[in-house]
Amino acid sequence: MKIYNTKTKSLEEFKPLEEGKVRMYVCGPTVYNLIHIGNARPMIFFDTVRRYLTYKGYDVNYVSNFTDVDDKIIAKAIEEGVDAGVISERYIAECQKDMADLNILPATTSPRATMEIGGMIDMISTLIDKGYAYRAADGTVYYRTRKFAQYGKLSHRNLDDLRSGGRNLKVTGDDQKEDPLDFVLWKPKKEGEPYWESPWCEGRPGWHIECSVMSKKYLGEQIDIHGGGEDLIFPHHENEIAQSEACSGKEFATYWMHNAFLNIDHKKMSKSAGNFFWVRDITSKYQPMVLRLFMLSAHYRSPLNFSDELMEAASASYDRILNCISNLEYLLKGDRTADITDSEKTVLESFDKFTADFERAMDDDFNTSDAISSIFEMVRLANSETVEASSRAFIEEELRYIRSLTDICGLITEVKEETPDEEIEQLIKERQDARKAKNFARADEIRDELAARGIILEDTREGVKWKRA
Ligand code: AMP
Ligand code: ZN
Repeated sequence: MKIYNTKTKSLEEFKPLEEGKVRMYVCGPTVYNLIHIGNARPMIFFDTVRRYLTYKGYDVNYVSNFTDVDDKIIAKAIEEGVDAGVISERYIAECQKDMADLNILPATTSPRATMEIGGMIDMISTLIDKGYAYRAADGTVYYRTRKFAQYGKLSHRNLDDLRSGGRNLKVTGDDQKEDPLDFVLWKPKKEGEPYWESPWCEGRPGWHIECSVMSKKYLGEQIDIHGGGEDLIFPHHENEIAQSEACSGKEFATYWMHNAFLNIDHKKMSKSAGNFFWVRDITSKYQPMVLRLFMLSAHYRSPLNFSDELMEAASASYDRILNCISNLEYLLKGDRTADITDSEKTVLESFDKFTADFERAMDDDFNTSDAISSIFEMVRLANSETVEASSRAFIEEELRYIRSLTDICGLITEVKEETPDEEIEQLIKERQDARKAKNFARADEIRDELAARGIILEDTREGVKWKRA
């Protein structure tokens, strides 16, 4: 399996630090608002990477954080007149809802920066002890960038050409820096801001130190894969390397993977530019899986331009998968011969070949775009080769092949059967009768049964009303 490594700018054979195990860290969102579909691109892509590695038999430890202390969170808290924690808790919960809708598996651990302050103080102290960091007069602690000789190795920048440009480079007291390239590890509190005690001043951590610390705590000093959007290469990931490696003396991450942007009109989608859609703007219009299919239809290192036409095309494609599966499931309901025929076996060999094509594409730096075409080859074949006389075992195998690949892509393909209105009315009537007869156990059973089918009952003065969830 080959992975494109930003650090070496080349495709490299994947070799984990420990056989059979993958330690993976993906920078998560800053939670001051809902997530937009640009933020969803790394979430969907790296979730697919994780699913594929798991399919290949690796035991994947996947950590993705929430940045829950930040200037923007604080600004929003002040605007609303609430604590910063109220804002971050609210948007973590909303983000988790969107992630569940998009079938993004919960990370093995999703640490929150504010719960890891002790670890940050420890790492900053180590950096000061080793001469990689210093405290300025007002209590700000800076990283001494030039002291880390390999600075720039990820983003391929030369120290002398570098201009300071990151989120935290200009936050406070620039004139106190020994060098303009130095970046903030800890900064003093301002009036009304959340703060923590530290050996340097009451204050809060810089953004970069958070990921170094959370990655170390949950995955160890060395990890296999570190991921995020390409805007994080510099300065965020460069600074993470400087912090982690100065501290441990070991290589922090072996493979650095970065997704390209999701664009609108060929410009990066971002909250600051105002050219964005929330995930739920889109999932209220299309099924969430359509967004997932759309994201995976491009290679992760290629920019992807969002458009209604492409979403319509993804929607039609997703329907093709669902229709195929629902047809196969329908055929399984009838009586049919059990055993596979020789000609069916030959067809299944093609399914095997498409699985191999899928794996080859994924092994080639997670080429989801090519991999997905194997799913459509399977759908095409299933549609043409499944007939009234097909055997049960053959249809079951077809379903298994298709589902195996859609599962790796995280595409939900369960076709939900809707309970017809008349059946619901009938069950409600039965429940009413049970209640009249004081058989409350049966009445509750029916309510639960309806709930399981997504039907919500409401007892009103005018009688029982129901709706679909
Ligand atoms: P943020 O909340 O801005 O720190 O972003 C969270 C993640 O979303 C990071 O990995 C970013 O690189 C990524 N991201 C933000 N905007 C986009 C976009 N338009 N396309 C792709 N990834 C993005
Ligand atoms: Zn990070």
